[in-house]
Amino acid sequence: MLIRGGTVVDPGQGLHARRDVRLDVDRIIELGDGLTPRPGEAVVDARDRLVLPGLIDLHVHVFWGASHYGIEPDPHCLGTGTTTVVDAGSAGAHTFAAFRRYVIDVSATRIVPFLNIGATGMVSPAVGELEEVRHIDRAAALRTIEAHRDLIRGIKVRLSRDLVGANARVALKTAREAGEAAGLPIMIHVGDTPIPLAEILSELRPGDVITHCYHGRKEGILDDRGTVTQAARRAAARGVLFDVGHGKGSFSFQVARRALAQGFRPGTISSDLHVYNLDGPVFDLATTMSKFLHLGLSLDEVVAMTTGAPAQLIGHDGALGTLRPGAVGDVTLLAVQEGPVTFEDAMGERLAGTRRLVPSGAVRAGRWVPPKAAER
Ligand SMILES: [Zn+2]
Repeated sequence: MLIRGGTVVDPGQGLHARRDVRLDVDRIIELGDGLTPRPGEAVVDARDRLVLPGLIDLHVHVFWGASHYGIEPDPHCLGTGTTTVVDAGSAGAHTFAAFRRYVIDVSATRIVPFLNIGATGMVSPAVGELEEVRHIDRAAALRTIEAHRDLIRGIKVRLSRDLVGANARVALKTAREAGEAAGLPIMIHVGDTPIPLAEILSELRPGDVITHCYHGRKEGILDDRGTVTQAARRAAARGVLFDVGHGKGSFSFQVARRALAQGFRPGTISSDLHVYNLDGPVFDLATTMSKFLHLGLSLDEVVAMTTGAPAQLIGHDGALGTLRPGAVGDVTLLAVQEGPVTFEDAMGERLAGTRRLVPSGAVRAGRWVPPKAAER
């Protein structure tokens, strides 16, 4: 396959230029300007399109039919140009085998799971998965990770008051111990946590992740005066990764603007796409990326935060998140649509923008996937 005439943006190799991309079965084999189609080669016309390494969304929920958050990955992720997603804790030790067999193994979207430290995972809208302390089970988590070593790349723990009840410290400690024993990062969902953010951050190792980093609820990265806390700065300097995880209630333009103005950037941009935000305000990863362009990040920064940075975190550095020859043949095409657009955060604030990124098809392991027909 030859993807022809587009503007390749691949920050990992310092590339932002017109290039053609050649794939052989499921690998990238050549980048060049003015490559000539070979007999029998499929040609994708990418003129007026951005051609990116296949996008990686570090935070979504795709355990359809079992988790109340779950969306179907192929129409909503791959169909909107995201070739790889991290499912952030939809399944726990007691539900993971079904997630693997009935969703991960049969989806065209590449799904990299983080295991919930709560053994049920995110099944019920009525009961938080960590409210019952007997479900916070280190041994069960470690058995599941060992049985699915080829897939599981991290551990998830959600520490909001309504999900964890009185068990925040034991949940965090158990997740941390399981992460250390398994050699995997942990991802902490923060926002309205019953314990101070500074305490949570002090427990994290380099490579661990704070998701919902720009949430507008209690226990955020800003102090009462709107200044980024020393605890957040120290954690970032130590290698703790701050992930956006937009979500339904976890992204505030005001917090993001203040943090960015103080030079506190996200390590990764993710959507937290699920049932409750699919029809807005999140829609897809491209829309979340567009919001960060609007907030002042450059296109190269936004692409790096949705390709190379998440690839490194999930241990697929060099294979995913890059268009270097030899890498997996995952490619995302986006159009830049100029014109008035309204961006909304999770707090109801609306901003008037002037351009947005629109999914325009993808290649997943060498196979062309047309964009989902979505107008909004
Ligand atoms: Zn989530």
